[in-house]
Amino acid sequence: MVLDLPHYSITAFSISALATYVLVPKLNSVFDLGECILEAVPLDHVFISHAHGDHARCMLRHESLRRLFGMKPATYYIPEQTLDGFNELARAWKTLEQVPPRNFEYPNFQPMKAGDVVWLHRQLAAKSFRANHTLPSLGYTLYDVRKKLKPEFQGREGRELAALRREGVVFENEVWLPLITYIGDSTIETLYREQHVGESETLFMEITFLMDDEREIARQRGHTHLDDLLQFLHDCPDVLQNEHIVLKHFSMRYDRRFIVQTLKSKLPSDFLERVHILV
Ligand SMILES: [Zn+2]
Ligand SMILES: [Zn+2]
Repeated sequence: MVLDLPHYSITAFSISALATYVLVPKLNSVFDLGECILEAVPLDHVFISHAHGDHARCMLRHESLRRLFGMKPATYYIPEQTLDGFNELARAWKTLEQVPPRNFEYPNFQPMKAGDVVWLHRQLAAKSFRANHTLPSLGYTLYDVRKKLKPEFQGREGRELAALRREGVVFENEVWLPLITYIGDSTIETLYREQHVGESETLFMEITFLMDDEREIARQRGHTHLDDLLQFLHDCPDVLQNEHIVLKHFSMRYDRRFIVQTLKSKLPSDFLERVHILV
């Protein structure tokens, strides 16, 4: 599915247990790599939410394709608890391929914990936060970071500001504008705790289960049920201010028609206006 949002185009796929990936070429980033389509290969920043195969399985494929194409290594941001496992996996794969030890390098994994900030470039930062699932899991927000003149310095000339800078006067504020928040697999607890996710222009969140008799299975497997979202919208009506909300990771047992009809019949219309359904 291609989502044409005002500032960027997003290529994404997400079906529970099958695969999830969200490509944002303009921000040089991809979230999760349950599959690695060729368009993902040039993207330098890969944010992995958790170690379930449908979200992380193709990280090594991404890494080896870049090697094959002579590209510099990408950075793979992963929950810190998964570093040893992913390193072992990378080594086992190279052993199977009989790569001589002198030619082996570990992928460029960057272990992350909740609250860590990394800079993608001077004006683009990513910050992680904890997501509730059955495994260690992180969500990520990408921020456009700009310097803005403090009101009392607006209208001053460049030369004057340069002189002030030499004197050590701080005349700018840093403004962090949240562009995209990506939550991988998660229960609704993440939204109750991490309410900042509602400030992003675009929010990716999961709803895996829709049917009345699936509440228990949603709870056991660490996923969100449609009723959980409805309850959240009732409890915290002002939190999700996002311009775009992408609902993803639906169970394989539903078809597109059923998903669309069910969401349209149950979600409040003012919320539905901002929703994109990833099926
Ligand atoms: Zn999943
Ligand atoms: Zn999962």
